[in-house]
Amino acid sequence: MPSQPILIVGAGPTGLALALWLAHHGIPFRIIDKNSGPGQASRAMVVQARILEFYQQLGIAPEVVANGIKMERMHVRKKGKSFATLNLKDIGAGISPYPYVLCYPQDDHERFLVAKLKSLGIEVEWGVELKELRQMETAIRVVLQKGGTEEEFQPSYVCGCDGAHSTVRSQLKIDFPGGTYSNLFYVADVKIEGGFQADAFMNLGTGGFALMFPVRSSGMQRLIGLVPEALSGRNDLTFEDIRPGAEQLLHVHVDQVNWFATYHVHHRVADHFQVGRCFLAGDAGHIHSPAGGQGMNTGIGDAVNLAWKLANVIQGGASASLLDTYETERIAFARTLVASTDKAFQAMTGGGYAGRFFRLILIPSLMPTLLKFAAVRRLMFKTVSQVRINYRQSALSSGKAGEVRGGDRLPWVPSENGDNFTPLQSLDWQVHVYGTARPGFERVATAMKLLVKVFPWSEAAHQKGLKRDAAYLVRPDGYVAFASTEQDSLMLTEYATSHRLKFGEHHFTLPNNC
Ligand SMILES: Cc1cc2nc3c(=O)[nH]c(=O)nc-3n(C[C@H](O)[C@H](O)[C@H](O)COP(=O)(O)OP(=O)(O)OC[C@H]3O[C@@H](n4cnc5c(N)ncnc54)[C@H](O)[C@@H]3O)c2cc1C
Repeated sequence: MPSQPILIVGAGPTGLALALWLAHHGIPFRIIDKNSGPGQASRAMVVQARILEFYQQLGIAPEVVANGIKMERMHVRKKGKSFATLNLKDIGAGISPYPYVLCYPQDDHERFLVAKLKSLGIEVEWGVELKELRQMETAIRVVLQKGGTEEEFQPSYVCGCDGAHSTVRSQLKIDFPGGTYSNLFYVADVKIEGGFQADAFMNLGTGGFALMFPVRSSGMQRLIGLVPEALSGRNDLTFEDIRPGAEQLLHVHVDQVNWFATYHVHHRVADHFQVGRCFLAGDAGHIHSPAGGQGMNTGIGDAVNLAWKLANVIQGGASASLLDTYETERIAFARTLVASTDKAFQAMTGGGYAGRFFRLILIPSLMPTLLKFAAVRRLMFKTVSQVRINYRQSALSSGKAGEVRGGDRLPWVPSENGDNFTPLQSLDWQVHVYGTARPGFERVATAMKLLVKVFPWSEAAHQKGLKRDAAYLVRPDGYVAFASTEQDSLMLTEYATSHRLKFGEHHFTLPNNC
């Protein structure tokens, strides 16, 4: 094995999360970024519950939660008057150990991940740009540039986490079909008169909508809205240009502007996320409207999916065909996401009668009633937090026991003696039994070097759709691979053989400082 089998191109949130996960698996890699340091703009501000669950596996969730702000409420307003309030505090109670909406700006988040890598002795190589990539039958040849100096390097795998204008994607000649909306958006991090607001506000108006979120514990608010059409052709806009309309729609007075940017929203999904030993993840593979705060979170989800598969293959625990499931699992979700955020985006920004009807009549009349139903609020949480993502269609997924199928996220079962997510920190394959394990089955699973976790049968497990005494084979990323109502050792060995998996081949060491 070469000493650096993996090259990660791009140290945005996707590349950094991939690096951190690989580091926990003990896999050597290089991570490069053409910028001189981590991003300076707050961009994505919500870290969704599913990502916090992944971070719990790495032992870093408590710090991320402590660094962020839990949003308490979202007020939906028309002409400055609130007509519906969504209570976000514990909106996902019982669904996830992180049942809230956490605001943690992307620049702080990136710096945190860089520091975590550093604490493991890993440095991002800043100022290093991928210029060329050529994939041959048995090797990949890349040309990197630092300052005026070029370096040739032959990694075994390349992960293109290099954002929307991905060089990896263009070098691999992968199409990026989709389009760009004509609307121009503004984003600003500001201080407002009257002090910091911990609540979020969605303001609906004739010409569009504007959002205000709490961003920084230092007291900043994030404003997002549409640039008026009359101004959208200019490329020298400052906050002062949009101030009158923004302040009127948001019903605030801005005292200080910390950051202002305008951007066009795109909706594109790459034709492939994998070509041979090269992969795309994050914005390099999919870009879409920021509706629902999904972009960065989906990139981190890609990173986790790819990381454990690369680690298993490199460490000899799986055949290279495991890597083919990365594209099928993640591209399916990316396509669904782009289609759904596209619909939400069109509805919210639409001009003309239809758009105004949706924003000013339909939403104000339906939302207050809908939000009264706990089932609606829970569905909203499950969708936005990404805990509903499943890989039921994946070649890796099979079986059903109770309501839980192969491909589902392992449902979270809290208990006084520790929850069923704690063992996932091993980042290894494991079998879960809720009830009593059959000694013969446990013996075979243990001989296969599988961690066997037996949890007492509980009402909570029943409510989560698990079946008493069934066997659930759980992947390193916390998704159920295979579910069986019987603890059938033959089925378990057949699963491992058919997928050419050897368990217990990865060497996990949780560093003390992480
Ligand atoms: C204004 C704005 C607001 C946004 N708001 C939200 C939001 O509210 N919620 C949300 O979820 N998402 C939001 N997003 C999207 C979110 O920022 C992205 O989804 C996220 O940054 C994607 O992370 P990434 O790591 O995949 O790519 P990036 O963050 O783009 O990182 C890619 C990295 O690759 C590096 N790179 C590129 N090419 C090369 C090369 N050839 N060699 C070496 N390095 C290279 C770049 O320097 C960069 O650091 C917003 C984006 C913008 C622009």
